[in-house]
Amino acid sequence: MAAYDVIIIGAGPAGLTAAIYARRAGWTTLVLEDAVCGGQMVNTPEVENYPAVSKISGAQLSMDLYNHAVEQGADIQFDGVVTADLAGKEKTVHTRSGKEYTARAVIIANGAKRRKLGIPGEEEFAGRGVSYCATCDGGFFRNKVTAVIGGGNTAVEDALYLANLCSEVHVIHRRDTFRAGKVLTDALLSRENIVLHYDSIPLEILASDAGPVAGALRIRNVKDGSEQDIPLNGVFIAVGLAPDNQIFAGQVELDKAGYIIAGEDTHTNLEGVYAAGDTRTKTLRQIVTAAGDGAVAATEANHYLASQA
Ligand code: NAP
Repeated sequence: MAAYDVIIIGAGPAGLTAAIYARRAGWTTLVLEDAVCGGQMVNTPEVENYPAVSKISGAQLSMDLYNHAVEQGADIQFDGVVTADLAGKEKTVHTRSGKEYTARAVIIANGAKRRKLGIPGEEEFAGRGVSYCATCDGGFFRNKVTAVIGGGNTAVEDALYLANLCSEVHVIHRRDTFRAGKVLTDALLSRENIVLHYDSIPLEILASDAGPVAGALRIRNVKDGSEQDIPLNGVFIAVGLAPDNQIFAGQVELDKAGYIIAGEDTHTNLEGVYAAGDTRTKTLRQIVTAAGDGAVAATEANHYLASQA
């Protein structure tokens, strides 16, 4: 068992920024990450709205943040948290590899995951034509036909990324205006190999005649009820995010959707436990707001730890 002042769960922009601030305040800091550094932004081809950085790949920004946290002396371990006991003064977490760590303050910055659609064929063809990550899997569909489902920033970014690789990209959106920002939406509308299907919902992903891979997407127009099958090779699902906070349920208060209830001060219902970034109740989920949360959470943890000393 190893003891730290602060344990940070998650190494996205919230967690890594919290690590930089916690280290600069002089606290021993462990970051536990289940997957890769950067969180969702690692799969973002181009970030164009992080202040003072006009354009950078999500992977590069993730690497830069990781290096910054390491330079400041954060201990970053690639080991997911499987259980956490956060109620007492000494907090304990157990990891996938069987390790146990304790700390006096914990910052939960575990982000959110891509939501699933729950339509027939989604599970069946996962990894065989169905994907949740255009930058990871887009290369498999070079010169082929794909569809992106969703109308938010992620869906539009995915469609633009895929349009550079694929012969044709169909965008299926359930309304007739996009939730995505204007710059991205304008770019989408200007691409000749993107076919827009407004007011349309996906019904089913159908098998290819060639074998057990996705071969078509059935959609329905919600205004006139008409249905059509779009022949394609890949379906990219980008219908929003879902939190992943089950391991904290019963200790940390969650809202109905599963997000940790915490305000701008990042305080949870538990003393010494803070929630930063996409995992908490908030209105704007962006890299910059996650980083802001990380700074606030580490500063709040700093005040708490100092008051306990
Ligand atoms: P999002 O903003 O929640 O958008 C989800 C999209 O999926 C919406 O268009 C929604 O339709 C649609 N949708 C949801 N459930 C659906 C269903 N069951 N069937 C069909 N369509 C469905 O999610 P996101 O795009 O993943 O973005 C998540 C957060 O990250 C947002 O805050 C976003 O701004 C942020 N983000 C920012 C950037 C950037 O700034 N460059 C890039 C990526 C992500 P409706 O519009 O009708 O609700």
